[in-house]
Amino acid sequence: MDDMHCFCEQKEIYELKVEGDVGADPIWCNQCGCNFDLEDIAISNELKNELMEWAIKYGEWINWDIDKLILNGIEMEEEHNKQGAKLTEKVREELRGKYRIIFSPSTMARTYANKNFITLINVEHYYSNDHIAVVKWSEKYETY
Ligand SMILES: [Zn+2]
Repeated sequence: MDDMHCFCEQKEIYELKVEGDVGADPIWCNQCGCNFDLEDIAISNELKNELMEWAIKYGEWINWDIDKLILNGIEMEEEHNKQGAKLTEKVREELRGKYRIIFSPSTMARTYANKNFITLINVEHYYSNDHIAVVKWSEKYETY
């Protein structure tokens, strides 16, 4: 573990974070936010491979060419988060007693979903003899 370097003033790293990000290894210092080289983490090669495979899939729910969420993007991100939570559990097992490990799930899909759509709520009242019916519906418009 002596190969792990980060920018923390306290030289002991005690909390690590598992988080996916584009083009980054998935383990971070949760204090200073620096990104560790997965090679330097004292976990099994098998788990490193699993983590890298998981990290590479990060953001597959975004079409980067047009910067938009793909169909089922939110579900894809949820699935990725589930896998991430499982992997975090394994990292926790292997580093037991050395570090606290937390998992930071991605919310990017939701951000994109909100970025590209606005929702209009329509309300209409219908009057009949003895009551008023209120009908509400929402419409989603894509913004450009
Ligand atoms: Zn740090």
